Amino acid sequence: MLVVMQSHATEEQIRAVCQRIEALGLEAHPIPGSLRTAIGITGNKGEVDLGVLESMPGVVECIPVSKPYKLVSRDAKEEHTVLSIATPAGEVSVGGQNIALIGGPCAVENEKQAMAAAEGVAKSGARLFRGGAYKPRTSPYSFQGLGEAGLKILAKVRKNFGLGIVTEAIDNESLELVEQYADVIQIGARNMQNFSLLKRAGRAKKPVLLKRGMSATLDEFLMAAEYILCEGNYQVMLCERGVRTFADHSRNTLDLAIVPAVKRRSHLPILVDPSHGTGVRHKVLPLSRAAVAVGADGLLVEVHHAPDQALSDGMQSILPEEFAQLAEDVRQIAAVLHRHVN
Ligand code: PEP
Ligand code: MN
Repeated sequence: MLVVMQSHATEEQIRAVCQRIEALGLEAHPIPGSLRTAIGITGNKGEVDLGVLESMPGVVECIPVSKPYKLVSRDAKEEHTVLSIATPAGEVSVGGQNIALIGGPCAVENEKQAMAAAEGVAKSGARLFRGGAYKPRTSPYSFQGLGEAGLKILAKVRKNFGLGIVTEAIDNESLELVEQYADVIQIGARNMQNFSLLKRAGRAKKPVLLKRGMSATLDEFLMAAEYILCEGNYQVMLCERGVRTFADHSRNTLDLAIVPAVKRRSHLPILVDPSHGTGVRHKVLPLSRAAVAVGADGLLVEVHHAPDQALSDGMQSILPEEFAQLAEDVRQIAAVLHRHVN
């Protein structure tokens, strides 16, 4: 259910509607837009009697939202959400006209490796650095990440290069630490439906990058994001990272068609990860170009100075100089679309 306020509705009128919603035992989520504020209502088990809200000052109309997701929906907010990510070198915008370029290794392995990747990423003009300190690995015998020691290395990268840090939390415990060190909390494909983690991320004060589960439908993906928003964190970006299919020429099938599909249904930014999406180094550049061409709001790319020695995902990691080329190409494609790469 959605209450649409008049464009000139006052703060007081908005507050009064929220209070009335709460008095009905429901939750109110004001969603400010550039033209008007809408107030999402959650917690209703069935029909809500709208008469009382519709007659309140400042209200235009109450509309039932038929989709299972509400707060992430375009019905709740017409214009694109533009996230603002804090970095030591200033804010980085994602969404709208802004395309975010995020590069870095799959995992933080040691300081030298992280610094080598960060130097290349910073040189290419990208402003956000990725690197996992906690790795969700298929095998318990594979490298699991350095944990807090990895986060400390990321803090040094942040300080030395002024890059914002994107790093994954794999459970509620790691999220506590990731929230302290990172500028963006990543939730991985395997955790897309870890509902207690999603709820915890919804209470975090940092933006969240939510990756699509490897067999998740669009509705399931948006419902996972809804978990985060309905806990109060509206700073969410989605990330397509490939789904599992019968194709055996790539690790996953990068579903670029989900980009316009998300944009039709949701106001949230949608990024693309061509590294996990293909699993093959030589496919990363062409699919990055395609992702930007199809309207992606950003790219998440694995970069390693010595991919053949990487402790995880070396096969799909590109060299820093290849990342610089990628940055150059996607800048030109973005310009054709009147967009800007940060
Ligand atoms: C990653 O980004 O390194 C990662 C583990 O990705 P995904 O969750 O998409 O597999
Ligand atoms: Mn990886």
